[in-house]
Amino acid sequence: MTITDSATLQPANPDQICLVAIPGISIELSYRVDSLESIPAVGSEVLVEVGRSKRRGWIIGYQNKSEIVDFSKKKKVDHQIALFPGNNFESKTKHQSDLKPVLKFKPACLQSQTQLFQWMSEYYGVTLAEIYDTALPQRVKIPKTFFQVQITTTGKKFLEDQSAFEKFSKRSPAQAQLLTQLAARKTPLDQTVLFATVKKKSGLKALIDKNLAAYLPYIPAIGPTLIEADTNSEIKLNSDQINAITKINVAIDEQHFNPFLLHGVTGSGKTEVYLNVIEHALSQGKSALVVVPEISLTPQLLSRFTKRLSQTPVVLHSQLNATERWSAWEALLRGDVRVAVGARSAIFAPMQNLGLIIIDEEHDSSLKQSDGLRYHGRDVALKRAQIEDCTILLGSATPAFESLLNVERGKYSLLELPERATQSTVPKIEIVNFAAIRKKDCPSENISPELFSALKNTLEQKQQAIVLYNRRGFSTYLQCETCTTVISCKHCSIPLTLHQQGNFLLCHYCGYRTKIIELCPICRDPKRTLAQTTENDHETSAKKNAEPKIGQLRQRGGGTERVVEELGILFPAARIARMDRDSVSNHKILNELLGKMHGREIDILVGTQMLAKGHDLPGVTLVGVINADVGLNLPDFRSSERVYQLIAQAAGRAGRGNHPGRVIVQTFQPNHPTIVALQTGRYKAFARYELTQRKELFYPPFTRLLRIIVSAPKLENAVSYAKKVAEFLSQFHTSKQTAASNPLQIIGPTPAPIERLRNRYRLHFLIKSNSVRLVSELARSLSEWQNTIKGHKDTRMALDIDPYEML
Ligand code: ADP
Ligand code: ZN
Repeated sequence: MTITDSATLQPANPDQICLVAIPGISIELSYRVDSLESIPAVGSEVLVEVGRSKRRGWIIGYQNKSEIVDFSKKKKVDHQIALFPGNNFESKTKHQSDLKPVLKFKPACLQSQTQLFQWMSEYYGVTLAEIYDTALPQRVKIPKTFFQVQITTTGKKFLEDQSAFEKFSKRSPAQAQLLTQLAARKTPLDQTVLFATVKKKSGLKALIDKNLAAYLPYIPAIGPTLIEADTNSEIKLNSDQINAITKINVAIDEQHFNPFLLHGVTGSGKTEVYLNVIEHALSQGKSALVVVPEISLTPQLLSRFTKRLSQTPVVLHSQLNATERWSAWEALLRGDVRVAVGARSAIFAPMQNLGLIIIDEEHDSSLKQSDGLRYHGRDVALKRAQIEDCTILLGSATPAFESLLNVERGKYSLLELPERATQSTVPKIEIVNFAAIRKKDCPSENISPELFSALKNTLEQKQQAIVLYNRRGFSTYLQCETCTTVISCKHCSIPLTLHQQGNFLLCHYCGYRTKIIELCPICRDPKRTLAQTTENDHETSAKKNAEPKIGQLRQRGGGTERVVEELGILFPAARIARMDRDSVSNHKILNELLGKMHGREIDILVGTQMLAKGHDLPGVTLVGVINADVGLNLPDFRSSERVYQLIAQAAGRAGRGNHPGRVIVQTFQPNHPTIVALQTGRYKAFARYELTQRKELFYPPFTRLLRIIVSAPKLENAVSYAKKVAEFLSQFHTSKQTAASNPLQIIGPTPAPIERLRNRYRLHFLIKSNSVRLVSELARSLSEWQNTIKGHKDTRMALDIDPYEML
């Protein structure tokens, strides 16, 4: 059957039934469409009856009634069940009842996307309903007044022709008045504002039909301050940029699957390349999709896109409400807008005639969804580009090692921007061995003499500094001096972090929050009185290793809050702000903070990884990194790669303006390969070294990984379920084993590094295999098997293909 992008096709064929995927139902149900005037396209959203309730689902395919196994035998076949259509899984039939009609349908995505969803269902081993449910936004009714209106170029020209306009005014005075009002404004208007300026409200639709005015695609405001970006709009592209743009443009014209890796150092003008190639795609009548980390969707970036492109992009991010999201979606679906910029899930945006996909910061782990459907945005994007025959551009200053290997293997074409685009250069990283510094020489617990004097110097020069400490809070944990007990979360096997601002202990994994305690809950040693110890310790608290105490409990480690306090003592006149998940909970606060940095209202900005991402802050000349070792020794094969990327990105914030930058990195492990590599700046060599190790240890990208996490409120339940999983795995393994090969390696069950999380005990398995197909098949079989397991109500099993989290 041929399918078009419009939702309607030929008249309904009474012999055909459609298969509908419905969230929450692990099988697909069949429905009649013969009561409809025309057949909805695959991918259409439908309203159907399930039992007595009406449910939302999506049409995933059609079948002739005669093809259904049991249909001829039993007259009343309803539910044709194929868990994963198109695979070699047997169809099963479930309880039968009357075949019911589809009640209503609407287009929800483009036909080209249904192929992508099919692939995702197979690759991630989950039902199509789950894919549709994740990928497509909720449909809501959008009031017309929701949209702003503006005059079009045709409208402006029309107004210039005085005699024609006079005639028009006589014939249609209401329309003429509306048009004049629109012309009088430079910016688009809310409809309520527009109508307040005229006598009659009629005529707007007529103006829009004549293309004299247009509804503006909904562009969600992302913050209060639109920072003026690109004042130097007359940019003369450098030869590296021109080379990259030329090659990409040729690829766009060729309309083939054409993946590029744009490896450009921080500030090398990658965004400039993006803007140029997007414009080229638009000029060819194609659309372009841009995915950036959520945190980079700042007014600065968006205004740069809005000002420079001939089409205003829609913006898709997590803080849109349902109306905003659906209206943006519809504008794309209709083809009214041809550029979309958004965070991870924007990869599902319904782009008509897609010509280009850009994944900025392609190494960023936020591209991987960490719960629900654990897809990787970059992998999905690559598949989409392949299906839609389009160009895909992965951009980063520190590409994922996987991507570098793909260049080596000839899968991606490499484009390089080795120099900064402006006069500045990428600063060299200076390493400070914190372990070698004597206590008495340290100005404060976390600040080395080197960083102190660099900060002092920066402040004297009236320049700005960024201090990265990739750990939130004031102390990492509280420990009893008498019995060494560490105060942990009630729900997780994670130490609670002390947050002094707000005076509470917080679990960074489940969000559990409690009052600060002063007595060890285990030994309750009352030897020392609280008042004494607290006072004495606070006096010396700025000194290295004199970790402050609360009552009987010693505060271990540190975090952003602690660094803010120390800097406050060391530089009482400086204006210091903090940027982490605790202080920045939404885009509004983020933008205010960035606005203050731009406006030089902040001297030192202390923060976590949040401040390392993409921000272009020309006043920053110094970047300090406290404890570069955070995250370095995690049981995760990507930990070194991530730490390098984080610190290199942070370093890239320094010296982007007119003054050269300095980067000081404090570490306890100056000889760690990651730190040595950072110092020399030889990223590719470091990647090669790490990849060799991964190859030896059989880790991605040299193998596929599937992580299985089993959890239950009671440890014994988790263990007994894990045993069943182990049996299943072993059977599966045996069935695939041949004399010549051992296609799967099964590790586990072992307790997960975080043994208890949100009141659940956790065990995990790690499956390694060279076969992509086999891993997907295993995931699929596991979820099918899971549905058949009885008597484990409280137990959950999560499957993570290509996992990024190992804890
Ligand atoms: P990246 O995305 O690689 O970090 P940007 O595209 O944001 O880099 O560019 C960094 C800065 O350099 C921006 O202020 C941008 O306007 C400027 N820039 C980019 N290309 C050029 C160029 N060819 N000449 C001068 N300035 C440029
Ligand atoms: Zn917790």
